[in-house]
Amino acid sequence: MIYVHVPFCRSFCTYCGFYSERACPTAGWVDEVCREALSRRAEIEASSAVDTLYFGGGTPSVLPLSYLGRIADACGGRSYKEWTVEVNPDDVTPEYAAGLRALGVNRVSMGVQSLDGGMLRWMNRRHSADGARAAFRTLRDAGFDNISVDVIFGVSGLSDAVLEATVREIVAWRPEHVSAYQLSVEEGSALEALVRSGRYSELPDEACSRQYSLICSILASAGYGHYEISNWALPGRRALHNSAYWSRSPYVGLGPGAHSLRCALATIPLHPQGTGGVPPETPCVATSIRSWNSEALSGWRAESEVLTEEQIREERIMLGLRTAEGVDAALVGHGSGSLVPSGVPGHVRIPEDKWFVADSIIAELI
Ligand code: SF4
Repeated sequence: MIYVHVPFCRSFCTYCGFYSERACPTAGWVDEVCREALSRRAEIEASSAVDTLYFGGGTPSVLPLSYLGRIADACGGRSYKEWTVEVNPDDVTPEYAAGLRALGVNRVSMGVQSLDGGMLRWMNRRHSADGARAAFRTLRDAGFDNISVDVIFGVSGLSDAVLEATVREIVAWRPEHVSAYQLSVEEGSALEALVRSGRYSELPDEACSRQYSLICSILASAGYGHYEISNWALPGRRALHNSAYWSRSPYVGLGPGAHSLRCALATIPLHPQGTGGVPPETPCVATSIRSWNSEALSGWRAESEVLTEEQIREERIMLGLRTAEGVDAALVGHGSGSLVPSGVPGHVRIPEDKWFVADSIIAELI
């Protein structure tokens, strides 16, 4: 299970708080990612039980196809059960889409965000609504049968009617997967500056909650299963890669800004039995924090942190309670008053109608 962070964007979204550069990706950057992949071969093999490769960003679709191929080769090959590339609709030409297919990419995640022109301009997205429509058709024509579409809600100025029109139209496209994220004010973003200068006020929680419920009900009636707070899928089309994050499978993150999760390396003691309610099969885990020289986009080094048993328990709760399967009831002990049994024996979950306030429920449990 490999994640590659591609830290390049052609323009910056109003709400963006991620690390990304406006520079063009260079062959030197690709060399560096390949070197990192090759030097972490043992970790990559140790995480291969989940057979996925995910290019996230930034905007991975600014990478020429040859760069994607070279990085995949350095990761161990071009054949994965799920190989996802995040794309901006503006980059999806018939040639690029066909090239992705030819490489072996079998899933695309496209940031549409809205199908309202005014909203897209406010977000400073570089694609138009028509561009997103055309890109979706192009991906289908190229043979992609596993496409995810991202939508944003909770924006001041986004009416329920406009949001509903966007979600209903996307549902009519029948993507296999939909993700919906509430707008948040991130540190360092242009949006944060707007808030500080009084030119933007956040949408009240009540309106955000209403918009979330609207999305939930449209997607439910269209046959999409709500399997994680922000994610819906047609039957059998859940994201394998992202699902593995939520169950804390080990993964290797390559590139600047990527994190990794390593489990039970020889030097790390296995979990002692019967402590803190964490299942004994859970090994101690190191999260390595990637650190690149952002000026040169080179010179990576890894910093690792060995998590304590309590941190592992908290991570399991935070991640597991985002999902429909929930977590082992033993993890949350007696503090589980707002939880209900999930479909998995012995597991409890947050009911869907309380997912909007999941953060506060989780905060009470950890
Ligand atoms: S939100 Fe994503 S696509 Fe937009 S500027 Fe940030 S990293 Fe790039």
